[in-house]
Amino acid sequence: AEAHAAYNARNSSSLQAYLSSCKFLPGGNTRTVLHALPFPLTFASGSGCTLTSIDGDTYIDFLGEYTAGIYGHNNPTIRAAINEALDKGWSFGGNNMYEKELARLVCERFRPAIELVRFTNSGTEANMMAVAAALAWTGRKKILVFDKGYHGATLSFRSTPSGHVEETKKDVNLPHEWVMGTYNDVEKTEEVLSTTPPESLAAILVEPMLGSGGAIAGSLPFLRFLRSYASSHGALLIFDEVMTSRLSHRGLGYKIGIHPDMMTLGKWVGGGMSFGAFGGRRDIMGMFDPRNGSLAHAGTFNNNVVSMAAGCAGCKILDEETTDRLNDLGERMKQMVQDVIDKHVDSEVPRTNGHDSTHLSNGEEITTQPQHSDTVPKMWISGIGSILAIHFASSSMQPTLQSLYYHHMLTEGIYLAERGFMALNIETNLEHVQAFVAATGQFVEKY
Ligand code: PLP
Repeated sequence: AEAHAAYNARNSSSLQAYLSSCKFLPGGNTRTVLHALPFPLTFASGSGCTLTSIDGDTYIDFLGEYTAGIYGHNNPTIRAAINEALDKGWSFGGNNMYEKELARLVCERFRPAIELVRFTNSGTEANMMAVAAALAWTGRKKILVFDKGYHGATLSFRSTPSGHVEETKKDVNLPHEWVMGTYNDVEKTEEVLSTTPPESLAAILVEPMLGSGGAIAGSLPFLRFLRSYASSHGALLIFDEVMTSRLSHRGLGYKIGIHPDMMTLGKWVGGGMSFGAFGGRRDIMGMFDPRNGSLAHAGTFNNNVVSMAAGCAGCKILDEETTDRLNDLGERMKQMVQDVIDKHVDSEVPRTNGHDSTHLSNGEEITTQPQHSDTVPKMWISGIGSILAIHFASSSMQPTLQSLYYHHMLTEGIYLAERGFMALNIETNLEHVQAFVAATGQFVEKY
């Protein structure tokens, strides 16, 4: 209550904006993930690594638009590319040169996973189309997904205690024949598959690291199991790399040597504009060839010049060296935060459910074996490279600690997701990271 009262007083313009928008938007909101208690901040501008609220406060941005904001705010190269494109007009109702260039950049970068590509308006659409392609290619109906997997607004999965796809108020899922596996757990996934006739499984849709599900890296044995199961049973393996494609120059799947049949992209690849893409093997994507393919794929804005031009500029900015530097900084930050936690948070709490266990991801190995113990740390940091998340162990105190941490960080001028998710951008430097670590240190000392 104290933190909220201070927040209300500090952010009166955001409060007014929130109350006015509640008249026209449900809960003043058009992106559920941006809701925060007591009300979210409204931003006026962004520049480099910082955001400025309409209340006049400037924050170091560690959220990075849930990974889409990898270039930092108001990147001059991307702005110039968009302006140059706009100068020549937009919405041609025809092909443009930017889509051809972006397709070349994407295919050359993400080969062999993507031999041919198609663009969409969002990552959600990209996954919908990849799933549709898998159903058509295999003539099968079922799709294996994973608990806490997030593939977009209509493709979000959480299990119930019985292990079925949950019909919660929060998830609005497309009506497909979903089968739910347990992320990073080969045994439990095998159990689920044993009740699914292999000839009915069209695809396995999986993030090589759970992104929104808490930056939980996929273990190599788990992902290798999925690759080999799909290959031996004629199903397609779809890697959703909408977030993770930034974790190495050619994506996370390439880095760990596991190649999917199809791959989906979004977020940063569109230069920070509305964007999605799905691609894969030439034979599968050939279904979309208008000359002789069996599938149509429409979308007025699939090739909109703004996203295409911004994407071309963005992919060139994010070369291999820049990608590596950013991910190295993320690994360094993870270690610094973990050190601060280790210094002050010595207690562990009893494990309340199996999900608490899969939080480890150290360095290059990217193996995240579940911890087989009865306790979990009270607080920890997970993730790979530039995508990280702060966690608090499930307990009656968890929501309070999570919210206190969020408000404490805001007070210290640091912006991240309320649930602890973070994505660094190329404007983030060691000083920003040090400020983050210091603020986290104050929090753990205090609470
Ligand atoms: N897939 C993953 C892994 C994501 O993290 C997201 C968005 O957070 C999506 C798909 C959906 O992308 P979009 O929000 O562009 O629809």
